[in-house]
Amino acid sequence: MSPPLARMMDFDLSDEQREVRRTVRALAEQQILPEVERLEQQQAYPTELIPKLAELGLLGAMIPEQYGGSFTDVVSYGVICEEIARIDWVLASVISVGNSLAASSILAHGSDAQKERFLPGIAAGTCLASACLTEPGGGTDLGNMQTTAEKVDGGYRLSGTKVFISHAAHADLFFVVATLDRALKHRGVTAFLLDPKQTDGIAINEIPMRTLKRDNLAEVVFEEAFVPAEAVLGEEGKGFPILGSALDVGRFSVAARCVGQSQRAIDLCIPYAQERKAFDQPIARFQLIQQKITDMIMRTEQARQLVYRLGRMKDAGVPRASMEASMAKLAGSQAAVQNALDGIQIFGAFGLSEEYEIGRLLLEAKALELGEGTSELHTKLIAEYALGLRKQ
Ligand SMILES: Cc1cc2nc3c(=O)[nH]c(=O)nc-3n(C[C@H](O)[C@H](O)[C@H](O)COP(=O)(O)OP(=O)(O)OC[C@H]3O[C@@H](n4cnc5c(N)ncnc54)[C@H](O)[C@@H]3O)c2cc1C
Repeated sequence: MSPPLARMMDFDLSDEQREVRRTVRALAEQQILPEVERLEQQQAYPTELIPKLAELGLLGAMIPEQYGGSFTDVVSYGVICEEIARIDWVLASVISVGNSLAASSILAHGSDAQKERFLPGIAAGTCLASACLTEPGGGTDLGNMQTTAEKVDGGYRLSGTKVFISHAAHADLFFVVATLDRALKHRGVTAFLLDPKQTDGIAINEIPMRTLKRDNLAEVVFEEAFVPAEAVLGEEGKGFPILGSALDVGRFSVAARCVGQSQRAIDLCIPYAQERKAFDQPIARFQLIQQKITDMIMRTEQARQLVYRLGRMKDAGVPRASMEASMAKLAGSQAAVQNALDGIQIFGAFGLSEEYEIGRLLLEAKALELGEGTSELHTKLIAEYALGLRKQ
């Protein structure tokens, strides 16, 4: 990356946070990048790369040392998500689902036994997490959940179907939400923690996708799967607020991942525009190409500032920053999608060839725009918070 860009993105980080970026970027570029294209061709899950993330403490970035984690501050966690996502969508998702959705929820709402059972494994990479939220009938309207938890002797029986679940076939921990009574809508929602490998009545079926085939996105079917009473996270009927705070941290990490992908598009386009010639000169000389580079940098930097500000709010102890999380996620995902589009345009037809990475970024960016709240949802949420129609 050119020095002015490096200065821009690091200006407001501490020395320690800058060091985090340097270390994670070195891992990502030297050890992960050379493997990504092969994994992409083979449609293979990056199992062998996960221990490398654990060695550097990246899988426990939001987990305190007491439970085997490496937590320092939320901004550093954002920088980690940004740098890994700049190189690999799937590994960034492993980090973000484990830390944001699973570990943060367990730390905030889990029993001591749940913390001891799951957190050290998440940090060590021996307990991969999946969040089972979206259902075939819709992911945006989570209050209208159809998966039920029927109370039985000693626990619950879960029945229903979840779709588009990342890491499901590889997971040792499912963070699942189900309702005790559909008529109660969001007030019936309860969160559960379970090990799918030790629970009968769960079928995991891969969903054929046009992108991210190596993520093995799956449908997860619960067929009266029994979970003991201790599997409840927090309290019965309190799953919706737990989900809300989990998504708050989740959206922070997804927004940081979007910034990483947006930055990657810039980093790929600048040298290409300097080298590729048309009309006897580098295309970088054409104002219409320069306009795209400027727009790519501007939207990335704007999104990055929203992400770091959100991280700082969390580091300052602000308990919920849902409006700011929506702002960061909306700006980040729109930047990632538009940068991929502009990037493909700069590359011309090579942008669509398998030889170059830029084309792959587009559908991956679209996946970021859909996950953890679509752009439409965040647009609606921001206005509702601003208009006083919704509370943080
Ligand atoms: C790569 C990938 C990984 C994923 N991983 C996971 C995972 O690990 N766990 C998990 O649970 N889910 C996961 N998802 C699912 C994701 O969270 C959902 O796709 C998302 O929540 C949207 O839900 P939906 O696809 O059912 O769209 P729908 O909810 O059906 O929405 C369809 C369209 O309607 C719009 N819409 C809905 N409501 C409104 C409204 N009120 N106002 C305006 N527009 C509206 C939406 O924005 C969207 O454009 C993943 C998705 C992808 C693509």
